[in-house]
Amino acid sequence: MSSTPTSAVLVVNAGSSSVKYQLVDPVTGEATAKGLIERIGLPRGEVHHTVGGTTYDEVLPIPDHATALRLLTAAFAEHGPDLGEIDLLAVGHRVVHGGADFADPTVVTPEVLITIEQLVPLAPLHNPGNLEGILAAQQAFPDVPQVAVFDTAFHQTMPPAASTYAVPRAWREQYRVRRYGFHGTSHAYVSRRVAELMERPLDQLRAVVLHLGNGASATAVDGGRSVDTSMGLTPLEGLVMGTRGGDLDPGVAGHLARSGGLTIEEVDRALSKESGLLGLTGSADFREVQQRREVGDADAELAFQVVVHRLLHYVGAYAAVLGGLDVLVFTAGVGENDGELRAEVVRRLSFLGTELDEAANVGLARGEGGRISTEDSAVEVWVVPTNEEWEIARQAAEVVEGR
Ligand code: AMP
Repeated sequence: MSSTPTSAVLVVNAGSSSVKYQLVDPVTGEATAKGLIERIGLPRGEVHHTVGGTTYDEVLPIPDHATALRLLTAAFAEHGPDLGEIDLLAVGHRVVHGGADFADPTVVTPEVLITIEQLVPLAPLHNPGNLEGILAAQQAFPDVPQVAVFDTAFHQTMPPAASTYAVPRAWREQYRVRRYGFHGTSHAYVSRRVAELMERPLDQLRAVVLHLGNGASATAVDGGRSVDTSMGLTPLEGLVMGTRGGDLDPGVAGHLARSGGLTIEEVDRALSKESGLLGLTGSADFREVQQRREVGDADAELAFQVVVHRLLHYVGAYAAVLGGLDVLVFTAGVGENDGELRAEVVRRLSFLGTELDEAANVGLARGEGGRISTEDSAVEVWVVPTNEEWEIARQAAEVVEGR
């Protein structure tokens, strides 16, 4: 039975046409209410507010983010919990790109808003929606501090050797071309959590975290600090994902422009929306790919092998970057749920000292984490469910309380 917390953070993840939110106790991580407002700007908008196990749905036009935030407060007023009875510490906003400007969660000021706006060219699909969400939340909650938590922030500790692309100076200096990395909130949460679960000090742990969801990234975490990560300037680099193919010879773009007559917009679109599992199999959903493999689909089998091969590349490389490995961690939709993929990766990394506990790997309950390596395994292997909302709430509360 969930209880109304005395203090909480409203976590907001605003996209171009949707706002996801959760009311989270930053100490326990309990979410007492959550919701999704979608199809903003379309004639038929939708509000879904869930509290106490019941979801309340509403369909109505939602012209903009300001209206969405008004509907959010109305949903809380109508269905609870009563925000007036809660000490609302902060509204914590997920912001995708913080560039090199933000290494920490940051209380929103007019200057911060300008900087987020200036970062739009680096994340044209994400930062504008994030910004709209902040502006709307400022109107809806004028007396509550707004805190921006950046997806890139955790990776600002990467050494220049890892974050620098070997490209012309003008690209690096004028256009800020470098590796930034994403999913930082998840990697931060999971690497801290696994240290707690292992009962080992985080500052002595060399970890590789595999965040495998619709988007996917690998991070090398040394003593709690990101030292390398697979996503780069954009979230296109690295692992094979639902609709993004990850690593690619940059010459492919020029080849398609010259030989296929594709525009840069068409190449961009194909790389972010039509590649990855979708490009290889026709489905972006890993579960479906697994179901097709079971009935002998050759495309699905190849996709699985490409996914595994790329994962081996990254874990092997990061073990070298870290100078050894203490723990390998799987998280997010695929990482938390697909025992077959985990088993294949862990078996093929056995040369590093990973030994799979087969029973533990298949016995994990949905949504539950746990250790999936044997007692004797030199490198521990864990599944840790990610919780980005809790991490945003925790970081936002910390910033506000530390002021
Ligand atoms: P996320 O972006 O973290 O929500 O993860 C979404 C991905 O997780 C999708 O590709 C889903 O197909 C995948 N997924 C969810 N449940 C399972 C499952 N039981 N087995 C394999 N993949 C799953």
